[in-house]
Amino acid sequence: MQVSEYQDLLLPTLKKYFGYDSFRAEQQEIIESVLAKNDNLVIMPTGGGKSICFQLPAILFKGLTLVISPLIALMKDQVDGLKANGIPANFFNSSQTKEEHLQIFEDIHHSKIKLLYVAPESLSQLENMVNEQYISCIAVDEAHCISSWGHDFRPSYQQLGYLKAKLPNTPILALTATADKATREDIVNQLRIPNANQSISSFDRKNIEIEVRPANDRVSQIIKFIRSKPNEAGIVYCLSRKSTEQLAEKLLLNGIKATTYHAGLTFEKRNKSQEDFIFDKTQVVCATVAFGMGIDKSNVRWVIHYNMPKNIEGYYQEIGRSGRDGLKANALLFHSYSDVIQLRKFAEGTSNFEFQIAKLDRMKQFSEATTCRRKILLSYFGELLSENCGNCDVCKNPPEFFNGTLIAQKALSTIVRLKESEATGIVIDVLRGARNATIIDKKYDSIKTHGIGNDISWKDWQHYIIQLVNQGYCEIAFHKHNALQLTEFSKKVLFDNELVKLTKPVAIAEKETKKKTTKKASSSNLFERLRKLRHSIALEEDIPAYLVFNDATLKDMEMNRPMSDEEFLDISGVGQRKLDVYGTVFINEIIAFTNEKKVKSKKGNTHKITYKLYKEGLSIDEISAERELAPTTIFSHLAKLYTEGKDVDIYEFIDKNDVAEVRKAKETLKTPDGLKAYFEFFKEQMDYATIRLALSVIEKEEL
Ligand code: ADP
Ligand code: ZN
Repeated sequence: MQVSEYQDLLLPTLKKYFGYDSFRAEQQEIIESVLAKNDNLVIMPTGGGKSICFQLPAILFKGLTLVISPLIALMKDQVDGLKANGIPANFFNSSQTKEEHLQIFEDIHHSKIKLLYVAPESLSQLENMVNEQYISCIAVDEAHCISSWGHDFRPSYQQLGYLKAKLPNTPILALTATADKATREDIVNQLRIPNANQSISSFDRKNIEIEVRPANDRVSQIIKFIRSKPNEAGIVYCLSRKSTEQLAEKLLLNGIKATTYHAGLTFEKRNKSQEDFIFDKTQVVCATVAFGMGIDKSNVRWVIHYNMPKNIEGYYQEIGRSGRDGLKANALLFHSYSDVIQLRKFAEGTSNFEFQIAKLDRMKQFSEATTCRRKILLSYFGELLSENCGNCDVCKNPPEFFNGTLIAQKALSTIVRLKESEATGIVIDVLRGARNATIIDKKYDSIKTHGIGNDISWKDWQHYIIQLVNQGYCEIAFHKHNALQLTEFSKKVLFDNELVKLTKPVAIAEKETKKKTTKKASSSNLFERLRKLRHSIALEEDIPAYLVFNDATLKDMEMNRPMSDEEFLDISGVGQRKLDVYGTVFINEIIAFTNEKKVKSKKGNTHKITYKLYKEGLSIDEISAERELAPTTIFSHLAKLYTEGKDVDIYEFIDKNDVAEVRKAKETLKTPDGLKAYFEFFKEQMDYATIRLALSVIEKEEL
């Protein structure tokens, strides 16, 4: 087939197999290029939508698309996801038996599968099948693994160069979320695809809210954070294996379902942690950076960095694991100087240490920023945002600067008097006039500035000193036990009264969702009902819940309440197979929910419900929509409520003249028979609602 023939098939194929109505950013262009048999290098952030770039062409190509993927553990989920969408696929790796492998050869020979996921180590066993008779396309996923520059280097990836030699006419598609130039060049060279089209998508992930907090009381902050997000899955990244375990234990003690993942665990244990997380059995994984590559669980709602990451690439990739479905997600980073010190130590032991330190410095600058954080992140990837993002902590709470010269002078002169030999903790102790053992031993209580800063809390001092360091007014001597020392800028403050701008510490108030309210919300909420249904289906089919439908698709159902096959197919994320397999049960659930709601409003005191919504400040139209009742019915409720003496501002809905008119009509008609008599009396010029409201005023007067 020519590309032009494919063109008309692209959108229908996208809808039929993936359930989406339109392509994201560069997807279409890439897919067209693949179909035209060009080589491609695709750089897209995690969650950007790389998979469709090879999965959709795979459906249209005659032969097999070979997908090279580094992690055996994840292949099954990827294949299950494809099958759930009605796309025949399989994986080929060392976890399978010889018989299974033979069956796969058969299937390839009879064109029964469209995609085959293979670990690079297993490629040699596929030797007989790797030829252009069978293979139409090769996708190299997580392609940065090929580069020894990268952080996930896999030696086995380096043998992939022979593919191009063996299959010169087969398009190769390399995909990664790592953008730096050295890695890109490495990929293209080693895969021998020098003429590959390079497509670099925007790295902006607008739905992820970015926040950085100082690392005080991290554990209790994390517990509060998680409690404010019941049922929402997330990952906490820690620097050491030990801290993942300690944290998970504390979370468990606090009733939060948490597990650990790090390279020190057995294969079985790691697998179980991962599965439990993917299958929504545990809410939280406390992990080292070993966790997450290729995890395409789409409903990870938040990522916390307990420790500071080594560099911005790593950080961005890790936070990118949240909110893949495009719904709101949170990234929270704890910033601590002791982490920076630790990371420096690690870096110093490595061969390219200057390179690593430079990267760490950029990470540090990001953490300390007082301007839009997303701008900083994206500029790191060479992308410029013209506006502030509005979805980071700095944008949401712009720092308030005040004249901090006096504070700075107090701190700096204390540093001088301590002979630039003490770390932050002691400097603060002296400022606050502490008389602990160290202070007394070293006679620091006789220093002139001892106690000059006791009007400022310990935490706030820490906040100010960090800012002084960030602004270069003093520095931490990492090689001298982290002693605080002066810089050339210090003198300007101490002797020339230079204006030092500091920001006030912001109080972090987590909205802890009360258990009661969430329970109440969950029973009356369609989304929760659909979530439960999805959960039971996932258990039955033994696949992760997000492979049934992701959160975004359930949200779309909640909004649009599809009640027929056509309406269901209109939902984003519903393709033909999912309509066939899940349509009926979901539609039935939606219909049942809607009916129950109607019955409830009939059974319960319907006026009361209207009154409650009215008092909540909803307009008539809003009440009518919420209750699925006609506006006239709502008006008649309000009229009755008013007569009963409820607090209804009736004149908001009716004019005094109308009341007078109706009063006259009532006198004229004597004992009128229902509203219709009035309606006819006014020659159908006054509507029923107005008549009903006017009568309520009159009846009330008569009471
Ligand atoms: P990546 O591999 O780049 O990290 P994925 O391919 O896993 O990202 O895609 C992330 C999420 O976005 C998935 O849930 C996927 O179904 C969804 N997605 C991809 N393309 C589209 C699209 N065109 N419209 C809507 N959702 C999409
Ligand atoms: Zn911002």
